[in-house]
Amino acid sequence: MPAACPVCRQTYEPEPGFYYGAMYISSGFSTGILLAIGFLLYYLANDPPLWVYISTVAAAVLAVTPLLFRYSRAVMLYAFGGTRFDPRYATR
Ligand SMILES: [Zn+2]
Repeated sequence: MPAACPVCRQTYEPEPGFYYGAMYISSGFSTGILLAIGFLLYYLANDPPLWVYISTVAAAVLAVTPLLFRYSRAVMLYAFGGTRFDPRYATR
């Protein structure tokens, strides 16, 4: 991750340890995935054995870990880092 945006020079780390909070956001995303897959398996696969739940959720969360990492950091920046979208920079 670069220290600042190459286009608008917005710093990506407002303070040291800023992204510790993203860990909790990522945990929330993972919980959402767990609940969604759990409900889908329960209602669509007719309540399979426990190992099916565990392996399916683990595989799904591992598959989307790169996305969770990036999006939780982006949410953290937008929510607590003072970052705002500026359409003037969108076309550069
Ligand atoms: Zn930028």
